[in-house]
Amino acid sequence: MHSVEEALELIGKHSSPLPDYECDAVEALGSAMAEDLTSEQDSPAFDKSMMDGYAVIAADLEDGPANLEVVDEIAAGVTSVEVIRPGTCARIMTGAPMPPGADAVALVEHTQIDSENVHRVMITEAVTPGKNVLKRGSLLSKGQVVLSAGSRIRPIEVGILSDMAKGRVTVHRSPSISIISTGDELVSAQEEPISGQIRNSNGPMLEAMAIEAGAQVIQLGIVKDKREDLAAAISKGLESDILILSGGVSSGVLDLVPAELTAHGVEQIFHKVCIKPGKPLWFGKRVSAGKTTLVFGLPGNPVSSLVCFHLFVRCALNQLQGRAEEPLHVPGFLLTRDFVNNGDRPVYFPAMACRKEGAGATLSPLNWKGSADLATLAKANALAIFAPNSEYEAGQFISAIMI
Ligand code: AMP
Ligand code: MG
Repeated sequence: MHSVEEALELIGKHSSPLPDYECDAVEALGSAMAEDLTSEQDSPAFDKSMMDGYAVIAADLEDGPANLEVVDEIAAGVTSVEVIRPGTCARIMTGAPMPPGADAVALVEHTQIDSENVHRVMITEAVTPGKNVLKRGSLLSKGQVVLSAGSRIRPIEVGILSDMAKGRVTVHRSPSISIISTGDELVSAQEEPISGQIRNSNGPMLEAMAIEAGAQVIQLGIVKDKREDLAAAISKGLESDILILSGGVSSGVLDLVPAELTAHGVEQIFHKVCIKPGKPLWFGKRVSAGKTTLVFGLPGNPVSSLVCFHLFVRCALNQLQGRAEEPLHVPGFLLTRDFVNNGDRPVYFPAMACRKEGAGATLSPLNWKGSADLATLAKANALAIFAPNSEYEAGQFISAIMI
């Protein structure tokens, strides 16, 4: 049985970024940059006024208030050719290029218009050279990497791309995911379960997680634990970049998924991971006519499915989308109560992470009742990670993953 780390390494090894394409930056929100973006020019491209006021020669104001001649008025977007010489200045607006000769901007609040001569202004406060001026290239210099390949495109990046790359960006195609919920006992959320039946919570939950992770979902619904039904759904699901099945991967008589996947040419890469919940996880890959499909058989219990998606499916999704690895395990949480893990597998235990004044980040394991207990998971925002055969005391520092 593989450790979590080994399983993640195997998934990483078998997942390659999907082909890239160019699109509008806004459309790429949530995707990752497929290539570095380098600055084509200095930013700002000219010495720029940061304030509304007067472009002056700072030395003119060294000896106290000065009455200067206003030789020009410069709005943002306009380049002035009027040279500022000692004793002169130009009215300037925020964002406008500095006129030649001037080296600082005096704020409009520190000036008085000469009532007798509109072409003169009294500047009442001194400025140092460079004051209120953003120097050319002070934000970025030409050739500098502004955004690196793999970084996720957030609204901030959309702004930068619009500034530097005409609002276009190259990203990896977003992966398609097919989702199959297996189980004779399942009925859809809209149906009334009769005795022994349960509603399919995994299907919609996994769909939501896949959407959140930036995938295009093909929901294939509930499939009975019957060879022919499973075969038809698997054939369809294998058209996607990723196929997820929930249920049917343990050792029960009706756990038909692994055999049916193998029969469809999916090569098993591993079955079972040393983790609780989530041990029965199955992972494989099919390459057929140049098309690669990664296949995850997730255990049917909803919490197991969720934990496996968080840890393992997301790892594949990140690779396919060319996202830089984000550390999953967050260290440094202060455990609020004693905890014993008697089992021989690491436990990912639903917990509430909290940031309290003076106490740093604390982590409280919840009163979780096992893999079927999705209700307690709804109160959790993290999974506390406890090593096998270990005792923990309140006040100890532990790691968690955020969910
Ligand atoms: P299995 O992995 O198929 O043995 O299922 C393990 C447990 O998870 C059983 O109690 C199932 O009834 C339950 N289960 C399986 N699939 C789902 C699903 N889609 N939604 C909710 N519970 C499920
Ligand atoms: Mg089942």
